[in-house]
Amino acid sequence: MGKDYYKILGVPRNASKEEIKKAYRKIALKYHPDRNPGDKEAEEKFKEAAEAYAVLSDDEKRRIYDQYGYEGLKGGAGTGGTGFRDFEFDLSEALRTFMEGFGGFAGFEEFFGTGRTKRTSHTRGFGPERGSDLKIRLPLDLEEIYRGTKKKIKIKRYEECPDCRGTGQKAGSSKITCPTCHGTGELREVKKSFFGQIVNVRTCPTCMGEGRIIEQPCPICGGQGRIKKAKEISINVPHGVATGNYMTIRGEGNAGLKGGPRGDLIVLFEEKPHELFTRSGDDVIIDLHLTPSEAALGTKIEVPTLNGMVRLSIPPGIQSGKLLRLKDKGIPHLHHTGRGDQIVRIIVDIPRTMSQREKELYQELSKVEDKNIRRFTKFSK
Ligand SMILES: [Zn+2]
Ligand SMILES: [Zn+2]
Repeated sequence: MGKDYYKILGVPRNASKEEIKKAYRKIALKYHPDRNPGDKEAEEKFKEAAEAYAVLSDDEKRRIYDQYGYEGLKGGAGTGGTGFRDFEFDLSEALRTFMEGFGGFAGFEEFFGTGRTKRTSHTRGFGPERGSDLKIRLPLDLEEIYRGTKKKIKIKRYEECPDCRGTGQKAGSSKITCPTCHGTGELREVKKSFFGQIVNVRTCPTCMGEGRIIEQPCPICGGQGRIKKAKEISINVPHGVATGNYMTIRGEGNAGLKGGPRGDLIVLFEEKPHELFTRSGDDVIIDLHLTPSEAALGTKIEVPTLNGMVRLSIPPGIQSGKLLRLKDKGIPHLHHTGRGDQIVRIIVDIPRTMSQREKELYQELSKVEDKNIRRFTKFSK
């Protein structure tokens, strides 16, 4: 039982490590979330492939899987446990597997133009580094949410330095061989252990694996490769968004350091309060005030909606507090077709002041109206 990792990657059971890596790369690139935004099925395939690759590319895990199957990996079937409890991959693990499998930064860049990894702070000031994400709030009117809109906003963000074109290098100066790694880009550490020699290879922290470092930094950006600038961005806001919804615009965040890729722009939507409408999910609610005679006799009223005026028939004898529904006059649903309703709550306004004539008519009405009503009922909210 369990997953067939060979089938997931489409390789034979005796596939070599190289074949497995190649097969995984193909699948991972096809279903990568950056290429399939919002596609849950692609995301599942991407995660599944990463999981399969993590197992089949690891000799020990592959041996256990071949012998005991999926259950074996989870620590059952008399293997003594392998420590992979709950082996299902989540998306961040899958992305990490992808990054690790393909040379991290550079491999990723090549295909998507924007990296997802963030380098840790101790590497600052050395190699290229992905720019940080920018977060902005975007206040919207209910009318804009109703229709969807295009908004132009001004942001301040880091842009590539025009002087050095992002390299951080002073014009005319050159790069020199990294003194830490002597140009190899990596540091090797050899350790002796029970199993023999273990070679530990890590990326050189001085040059971030490049093997060369800048001799003279650009005087305009101080070697950062970027400077802060105001920029106008236009954002397509889909209809039906709500406060708390956000949108990630890939590659519109800060420029990276030393020509590193841009971060993302994260736009957080915020609904401005409306003078008439109250939103409840995708429904909008409005109060409609009636005079006693309108409520008693019924009438027709022009009611504002988010899409113009609508004529609403008020049946005779309507009670204060009654809710009338205008079908499909609410906010369009964000994730599926259709829209909410407009709910109209009836409020009967009793006159606080009256003309002499009105008073006479009320007194006359009082003589003829049925006083035999149910005076007391149980209070309910
Ligand atoms: Zn510069
Ligand atoms: Zn180095």
